[in-house]
Amino acid sequence: MVRWVSANAPRSRQRAVGPSEIGVDCMRRLAYRYAGAEPVNTAADPWFAFVGTAVHENLAIAIDRYNAEVLGPPNGSRDYGQRRYWVEERVTAGADQHGVSGSCDLYDADRHVVIDHKVVGATALKKYINHGPSNQYRTQIHLYGLGHAQAGRPVREVAIAFYPRSGYLTDLHVWSEPYRPQIAHDALRRATTVRQLAAALPIGHIPAHADQVACTWCPFYRPGGPADTTGCPGPG
Ligand code: SF4
Repeated sequence: MVRWVSANAPRSRQRAVGPSEIGVDCMRRLAYRYAGAEPVNTAADPWFAFVGTAVHENLAIAIDRYNAEVLGPPNGSRDYGQRRYWVEERVTAGADQHGVSGSCDLYDADRHVVIDHKVVGATALKKYINHGPSNQYRTQIHLYGLGHAQAGRPVREVAIAFYPRSGYLTDLHVWSEPYRPQIAHDALRRATTVRQLAAALPIGHIPAHADQVACTWCPFYRPGGPADTTGCPGPG
């Protein structure tokens, strides 16, 4: 049942490329998405993603209750214009038909901070504490920042809250930096280039950034054989 619900989750069936994908290091992986390729690496264990989704859903409930029951009116209002914390607000970054849309985990309307939740394992948590977020995560949060800003809401800072998948709430690590729209604009420009390459070149000619760990989680990873429309051998 867990495998079925994971395979049929809206995110798994998502056709449009979203803010979480644009900043991926591997251009070829992004090109597969723009080319509309079907995922072939479907054997990956869905548990981490399942846990992540469950935590996101419960955080949304917790923040909504906090708005309504602790901050009180008008924060509990259904009118988001009256609230301090905006949960899962749909935003679009980019002005043309190639803009990317997604649900932003949290916006603090008092402090003008855009926040993304990530649920991570112990090794990854240590890495993010020591080295900061990946390009992909950083790009994603700045794209949400751009989306909120383009919708007319002030954005001063972006943040990623890393929650331990196995650990305590006291292990929570929050990374933040000032909002820099240029990061989002650069990512959108790169995505346009990849989209054009995907339309013009065989997929195997598009530069790849093969990484043993990242490739394992790539939906198009198919060890053995050449890189073609049916999959990519990754580091092999
Ligand atoms: S398998 Fe690795 S190299 Fe190939 S497209 Fe995916 S991330 Fe890129």
